[in-house]
Amino acid sequence: MPILDKVPGELQLFIGGLFTVRRTESLQENHITHMLTVLNLPVDQDQFKDYVHKTIAVDDVDDENLLEHFPDCIQFIQSGLDAGGGVLVHCAMGKSRSATVICAYLMYHYNLTPDAALAKLREARPFAEPNDGFWKQLQLYHSIGPHKPLGTSPLYQKWLFEREMELSRACGLAPEADKIRFEDEHEADDDERDDDDDAMSRTPGFELRCRKCRRTLATSTYILPHTPKEQQQSQDPSTNPISTLNSNNTSTSNPACAHHYLDPLSWMRPTLQQGHLSGRLECPNPKCGANVGKYAWQGQRCSCGAWIVPGISLVKGRVDEVRVAPAASGKVGGGDGGEEAARRRAAMGIRLPPGGGVSTSTSATTTTKATATTGGGGGGGGGGGGGRKTGAGAENL
Ligand SMILES: [Zn+2]
Ligand SMILES: [Zn+2]
Repeated sequence: MPILDKVPGELQLFIGGLFTVRRTESLQENHITHMLTVLNLPVDQDQFKDYVHKTIAVDDVDDENLLEHFPDCIQFIQSGLDAGGGVLVHCAMGKSRSATVICAYLMYHYNLTPDAALAKLREARPFAEPNDGFWKQLQLYHSIGPHKPLGTSPLYQKWLFEREMELSRACGLAPEADKIRFEDEHEADDDERDDDDDAMSRTPGFELRCRKCRRTLATSTYILPHTPKEQQQSQDPSTNPISTLNSNNTSTSNPACAHHYLDPLSWMRPTLQQGHLSGRLECPNPKCGANVGKYAWQGQRCSCGAWIVPGISLVKGRVDEVRVAPAASGKVGGGDGGEEAARRRAAMGIRLPPGGGVSTSTSATTTTKATATTGGGGGGGGGGGGGRKTGAGAENL
């Protein structure tokens, strides 16, 4: 194993392991002036007395948050390079932690993808290998944009929330009240892209309303699609009619699923912040209060067999799916109370797709057709009810 390796190119940036810092000659040969220790071990500080030195105390484990230190690390590396010296980033082996930090710097400096950054580093150090958790953090960093402030990034906040949820699940506890993220209180940054999970990529265009009082409980933006269990096991999705529905992002219409699964939304706040592991969700309209669903932080099994974590669900039989043309959604539900309704819609985060106009109405029409077909296939009085409500919604447009 080499002592220290130089990142290919013009940068005086080096990677090494714990023993590298004792090889004084080698450090001098390479004009090292700055050392960044990415290690959660007591080290002899005397070794660093002749260098500008910084320590990031992290372990090499998947669930360590190294991402939060990227901006500090990058600033430190940059200051060393700007001063004309050589910068050594080291951990224990020069394999995972230090490689992750150097990848982050290369992504920042050269505007590289995580793959390209690691490929570049591996030209010098072939066994460089961020652990799985750090690798995901590099990908998240790429999605956020290395030149953007981390703290205010909705993607980063969401990731922190998911970590918090995992932690509380592992302890068998409900998440702390102030840690729960109510998705409709956060606007997605237009420049941020999270292909798998960004609310903006989900199909807009319909609302879920309390069947009893018609209060809007969610827009389709906040419905979490899931794959029915039988479909997960299906060998040939093309012959499975359910997969066709799902591929159109209308999995909520799957007859096998009796619930809509949602992100935490602000109207659930009084219930979700009680600190219970599970419970009922009631319609927030004080005059109604109908039992519309349930939540379970540890997860719920959908009637299709899929396990959804956390499980925050509305019972399909208690809500109506109401198609709305996104561009005109400001008028929908206007009948039940002016300013309050407007404020509530803002809180629900009913979002307009980019472009609007012709393309919007085209997509709304397409979606409506898809649903009409699905409703018919699903059968029964529910479909008729949905159709009637859709008509009522359309009148408001
Ligand atoms: Zn209600
Ligand atoms: Zn399901």
